[in-house]
Amino acid sequence: MLASKGRRVVVLEREKFPRYHIGESLIPYTWFTLNRLGVVDWLRQSACPRKYSVQFVSITGKVSQPFYFFQTIKHECAQTWQVWRGEFDQMLLDNAVGKGVELRQHVSVRDVLMDGSRVVGVRADTKDGREGEEIRGPVGGPALIKARAETTNGAFTALVNAIAPRQGPPLHIHVREDEMYYVLGGQLRFKIGDQMLDAETGSFVFIPRGTEHCFQNVGGDAAQLLVMFAPAGMERFFEEHAKLPAGPVDSAAYVSIAHAAWMEVVGPPLAESESK
Ligand SMILES: Cc1cc2nc3c(=O)[nH]c(=O)nc-3n(C[C@H](O)[C@H](O)[C@H](O)COP(=O)(O)OP(=O)(O)OC[C@H]3O[C@@H](n4cnc5c(N)ncnc54)[C@H](O)[C@@H]3O)c2cc1C
Repeated sequence: MLASKGRRVVVLEREKFPRYHIGESLIPYTWFTLNRLGVVDWLRQSACPRKYSVQFVSITGKVSQPFYFFQTIKHECAQTWQVWRGEFDQMLLDNAVGKGVELRQHVSVRDVLMDGSRVVGVRADTKDGREGEEIRGPVGGPALIKARAETTNGAFTALVNAIAPRQGPPLHIHVREDEMYYVLGGQLRFKIGDQMLDAETGSFVFIPRGTEHCFQNVGGDAAQLLVMFAPAGMERFFEEHAKLPAGPVDSAAYVSIAHAAWMEVVGPPLAESESK
């Protein structure tokens, strides 16, 4: 519903659908929610058994008279359905994805990260044992913090950063950290000092501290970068950035949180500097 109103929605689901689930007997007034979701036609055309009434069985086994919905409800919703939850929930998920929801399955939410009363991210585990704190990343995709000052004795920070097509950070310098990128997937173009460098899946890039650099995703799909900083500390920038309101970022706010993390912005993103 939120996605169809233009909000950016990410669904994190612990299981991989379709999966067995209990609770299959719909009740009449769910019709209105299902109608708003645009899935009533799916039910009408499905092989799900039609349901017209309920009958209650007491703890002693006594069966009540059937209660027919149409006797009190003068609306199409007086007829509802018994559903197979595996199939039904898969349909709901497909419907959400069709409306633009970003779906990640086999992701178990462990904790909700708060900034005061505001939710700014979640801590989640993936089924394949990958672990991390997922936050909204600065270049169009999520950032998964894998290692940070507290877990590495301050030695390094590591995170997996998803970069949306054409996106990339502005030209910048890390004053106190060396930075390393390992391209997990995608095609990127780096500007390092005066040099331009193409990097694709499997490429490794080292940026000594104090070096001007930026990059851009030049592929058609989201790119995945393992980004490491030594010593640790740059996770603060990513966390502060995730707290900014979603949507276009105010450049003064960006520069300010970057500066607080020893990162100086010295030029525009590659997309802008190269198009001039
Ligand atoms: C025995 C039984 C019979 C029932 N029969 C009926 C019935 O006939 N009709 C009816 O209307 N209702 C019935 N119910 C109730 C109905 O099943 C629930 O009310 C309904 O499923 C709740 O929907 P939900 O979306 O809140 O939760 P769920 O349908 O349980 O969905 C929650 C989803 O979140 C995922 N999840 C859980 N933890 C995490 C995590 N940490 N991170 C990421 N994802 C996570 C789960 O995998 C699941 O897909 C029954 C319930 C029971 C127990």
